[in-house]
This record gives sequence, C-alpha cells and structure tokens, in this order.
Amino acid sequence: MVGAGTMGADIAYSLAMANIPVVLRDVDENALQRAQEHIRHVMQGRVDKGRLSPQEAEKRFAQIRFSAQDKDLYDVSVAIEAVPEKMALKQQVFRELDRILPPLAILASNTSALSISEMANATTRPERVAGMHFFYPAHTMKLVEIIAGDSTDQDVLDTLTRLSEELRKIPVVVKECPGFVVNRILTASMAEVMRFKAEHHVSAHDIDAVITKNHLAPMGPFVLADALGLDIAWDVANTLQKAYGDRFYPGPELGELVQQHHLGVKTGQGFYSYTTPEANASLKSAPFTPEQEHDLIDQFTMATFMEAARVFEEGIASARSIDIAMRAGAGLPTGPLALADSMGLDVVYEKLTKMTKRLGERFTPPASLKERVERGQLGVKTSRGYFNY
Ligand code: NAD
Repeated sequence: MVGAGTMGADIAYSLAMANIPVVLRDVDENALQRAQEHIRHVMQGRVDKGRLSPQEAEKRFAQIRFSAQDKDLYDVSVAIEAVPEKMALKQQVFRELDRILPPLAILASNTSALSISEMANATTRPERVAGMHFFYPAHTMKLVEIIAGDSTDQDVLDTLTRLSEELRKIPVVVKECPGFVVNRILTASMAEVMRFKAEHHVSAHDIDAVITKNHLAPMGPFVLADALGLDIAWDVANTLQKAYGDRFYPGPELGELVQQHHLGVKTGQGFYSYTTPEANASLKSAPFTPEQEHDLIDQFTMATFMEAARVFEEGIASARSIDIAMRAGAGLPTGPLALADSMGLDVVYEKLTKMTKRLGERFTPPASLKERVERGQLGVKTSRGYFNY
C-alpha cells in the first residue's frame, strides 16, 4: 500500500483484517505514524464492541509492516497506490514500483478520476496495471470499482476482483471513463439539483429534506457535497463538464463558495454552517409548492437514470454492475436502471419527452430506453426491460 493518508491507512487496515500481509509505505514518516495510530484506534473500536478479541487484534495489526524501504517490496504481488491526485506524482510512483516489484506483480491505483492508461504507460507492464477505486471511508464502504485500462489483462481484473472479495467488499469491473461509474452518475444528479436551487431560489436545506423524505438517497446532495469538500466537488464537476458537456454544470453557487474558501465541513462553512446549530436557521426557504417538490423529485431521479443509461450505452459497465455500484457506493435504495424498470419504461419515456420540452436537450430519452419501448420491453410489467424478471 503506497501512501498512508486518509485512504491508504484504511485500505491497509482492511487488508490486515482479512489476514493479508501488507507493507504500508509513505514518503512522510509522520504520515506513517498517524496511520499506525489510526489503524490501532479503529481496531480497538472493534475490540471494545466485542467483535474482535485483543489477541486477534494484535495478530491482525502485526500483518502490517510500516516501512519506507524498497527491500520490503521485493516479494509483493499487488501494489495499491493512494498518493495525492496528481498525474505526474502517480506516474513517478508507478515507475518506481515497476522498477522494484517482481515482473508479474499487479500495480493498482485508487485514483478518483485520473486515467489508468496514462499511469500504465509510465511502466514497462501496462497490462499489469488497473484501477482499484475504494470509497471513503474505505474500511466501511463496501464498493470497489475495478477499472480496466486500455491494455489491462483479464487475469489482473480477476485477481483484483477476488482480492476485493477477500476484503468482504463488493467489486464491480468497469471500463475507464472520466468519473468512472459512481462519481459520474452522482455528479450528474448533484449538478441537476444545484441548478434547481439556483433556478427556484430554494434553500439547500429544503432540497435535502425533499430528497431524504422521499427516500431517493440516504443523505441530501448538499450535506454530501459539504462532507466531501466543495473544492473536490468543484474539481470533479469541472472535469466532467469538460469531458461530457453542460449537463455537469453545477450552477454558479458552488464556484462562488469555493472562491470564498467555504469548502464545507472542513472549513466550518459550505452550503450549511458548522459553527453553531442556529446558524442554519435562516436556511429554510418558503415551503415548496407541491409542483416544485414533484419537479425536484423528477429532475433528481431522471438525471440519475439518464447518466446511468449513458454509462450502460457506452459499454462502461453492465446494467447489473451499474445498479450494484450505485447501491453499494452511493447508498441509493434502488439502482437507477431497476427503478426505471419498476416505474415502467414507457412512463419514463413519456416523462423525459415532457421534461425535454420544459428543461432542454439534456433530458432527451436515451437510445437504450427508446429501443426497449419500441420492442414493448417496458420493465417489470412485461418481464423485460434493462433487466429480465
Ligand atoms: P492523502 O493526502 O490523505 O494521502 C496521501 C499520502 O500519500 C500522504 O500521506 C503523502 O505523504 C503520501 N505520498 C505522497 N507522495 C508519495 C510518494 N511518492 N510515495 C509514497 N507516499 C507518498 O490523500 P487521500 O485522500 O488518501 O487520497 C489518495 C488517493 O485516493 C487520491 O488519488 C484520491 O483521489 C483517492 N481517493 C480519495 C478519496 C477520499 O475521499 N479521500 C476517496 C476515493 C479515492
């Protein structure tokens, strides 16, 4: 495990808990020290809850070697990189690992958005390089996106899938594209909701309340953005807007908050304030009209469905993988494609046609939906849609 920061420490913990020996490496001695304390703390939490005996905790902890020495990597079979999100740095780390590790060892990156193929091309073994994208916090979040680069070997994807299962995670194999599956679909729906806020002059609080009250997601998009960090949300939205166009434009407010250095929970102010509970009292807007609430629900669910359908049509992932990823990685109660199947694909088609007239091209019904409706495959009610029933 290369990089002992927020993600690296938790991934090393997950490996050790599965009784897999791990070397945790970092250029910063303090980071290694912090990681060591963090892992001890998380293990102690399990001991305190009676889920792990103190002896077992010791045994698992002993699986981790905190080391910056090359010689500790000579017999490593899989390296997972979690250094900061900069291509030049990732390539430098990959070149280094390529030089030190045995020729058949797998080199995996935990990158959130960078190109796996670009990293692979920095090595002499591009076919042994893949993405292994854990979600924050990595010791509790179940999903792992296994990402194939342009030349990744199938056996590398199979090994990383099996390794994820050993960690009791839920792996989904996806092809490379900006944002991969979960961040791409989540960011599309988040951008839609942020534009809704600007257009309707309603508050983040009230939008979040509608989303959670209607069980569309486990937490409101604005609470989630504040927790992730608005600078990160802004970077991701910009990257995806460049790659896919204006449906990823998050409206003006996100950029303004970032400029004012209001980055969410970590700075005490974002869409919400984290200084005093009263500070958010002014956030409540005039109550939503039933029509507004209805529109918000439609725009959120349809933006999620539309992006999922695009990911499916581009062959990035199977319908099943997309839905599993959105449930395990974003906590959605139902996958977006299964939800469309249960609503009825003809109903979804009609809804999108009306929304296109009212809101614009971004809601043009996707080809995969049109085809299914034309064939009479309308989802659950006809036993066939995106899935078979
Ligand atoms: P972080 O800043 O917390 O940790 C990065 C660590 O890498 C630091 O300890 C740093 O000292 C170390 N490092 C820097 N250069 C190094 C080198 N050459 N060799 C070894 N170690 C080096 O970062 P993070 O939040 O853990 O993110 C790491 C990666 O995981 C990024 O690519 C990020 O996009 C991705 N990711 C982050 C999250 C998240 O929510 N934090 C979620 C999913 C994926």
